[in-house]
Amino acid sequence: MLDIRWIRENAERVREVAKWKKIELSVDELLDCDVTKRKISTEVDQLRASRNQLSQQIGRNVSRGQFMRVSEMKEEVAGINAQLVVLEQDLAEADRRYAALMRLVPNDVSPDTPIGQSDDDNVEMKRVGEPQQAEFPLRDHVELGRLHRLFDIARGVKTAGTRNYYLTGDGALLHRAVQQLALDRLVEAGFEPLDVPLMVRPETLEHTGFFPLGEDQVYRIESENKALIGTSEVPLVSFYANETIDVSQPIKLAAASTCFRSEVGSTGRDVQGLYRVHQFAKVEQVVLCEADAELSDQLLHEITGHAEALLQLLELPYRVMAVCTGDMSQKTYKQYDIETWMPSRGAYGETHSSSNLHDFQARRSNIRYRDAEGHMRFCHTLNNTAVASPRILIPLLENHQAEDGSIYIPVALRPYMGGRERLYPKT
Ligand code: AMP
Repeated sequence: MLDIRWIRENAERVREVAKWKKIELSVDELLDCDVTKRKISTEVDQLRASRNQLSQQIGRNVSRGQFMRVSEMKEEVAGINAQLVVLEQDLAEADRRYAALMRLVPNDVSPDTPIGQSDDDNVEMKRVGEPQQAEFPLRDHVELGRLHRLFDIARGVKTAGTRNYYLTGDGALLHRAVQQLALDRLVEAGFEPLDVPLMVRPETLEHTGFFPLGEDQVYRIESENKALIGTSEVPLVSFYANETIDVSQPIKLAAASTCFRSEVGSTGRDVQGLYRVHQFAKVEQVVLCEADAELSDQLLHEITGHAEALLQLLELPYRVMAVCTGDMSQKTYKQYDIETWMPSRGAYGETHSSSNLHDFQARRSNIRYRDAEGHMRFCHTLNNTAVASPRILIPLLENHQAEDGSIYIPVALRPYMGGRERLYPKT
């Protein structure tokens, strides 16, 4: 959410950003609604004040035994009440319409965000590590999975439908190993680990900027009026909803959680293997800090660096992309994606997404702090993947395979894999 005063003063910019982010929003209607709402609100206040004056006057006259004009004044009060009934209905309707439009207003984007239509227009910032030139025919992760009995997609589909899977044996161990490695590194970097609710109230998703846009990505549990989270960013940020917090030092939170995504709109995309699934695990970083653009930009680089450090520990080649306007969500001010080399795709595939939301999410979630001058302000919030699995298993298996089908385990991962240096085929 943005401040309506800022929207009034920057209407053209809001229109432009809404177009870039492909959000259908009539800024004129929003501004009209704001004027109407304020006009009715003033009228309602004036009428209520007149009614109070009249009621007091009636009371005084009656107590003094002066019945002059009392019935006249009572009629006036009845007239005001009738007017108020209509105006209060109009106000409720204007409030409802205003709130609905405000929920669609996009966050502004940083001046250095590339303008573009889709991920094709994202800009590569840097590349780390070189994809190895294979001297033998590479197996894809599905084949490696079969060879090592790491997962079972057919039985996942049997049990839970398309885009579902079981992780088995070393597959399940690798899945937990990458998460624990990521979580341990974050704790070392000063993050507080939290275990979070996976089922949340719809308001929580609205306040963190996932509803109403993105509502179709979320699984609802109608009987409970709850929804399953698509990322632990939701419960992590909401931890402080409606609170005044101390951000004199940035607050750094981390969680490993299951994430659920309907993947509506992805029909036919990435149907092979473990790339795009309905349920996966993610270790997430969330930071809350003072509303200082320089500070939050620095923190964006810091949390992006944590993801990079993890990929370096996993000994994987990757690149960092500046995400363009057309590939950004409503709430994002600035975003970097990290893409890791996936031999079977012959391309880099997205494995991490790092965002600075400025005060957009804190405004919606009502998370404030008192600044050095004693003013109440909304803080900035940021988030980034530390690791998401099983997607990360794709580059891990495919980049670290040997001709005999064995898989090299990066040194940093070995303590979480019983000290093993390689996995050997089971079939
Ligand atoms: P996001 O929260 O959408 O920015 O996604 C963060 C990361 O979660 C992505 O970079 C992927 O590694 C992973 N991810 C997102 N959606 C899926 C999915 N449907 N299946 C598997 N992994 C996913």
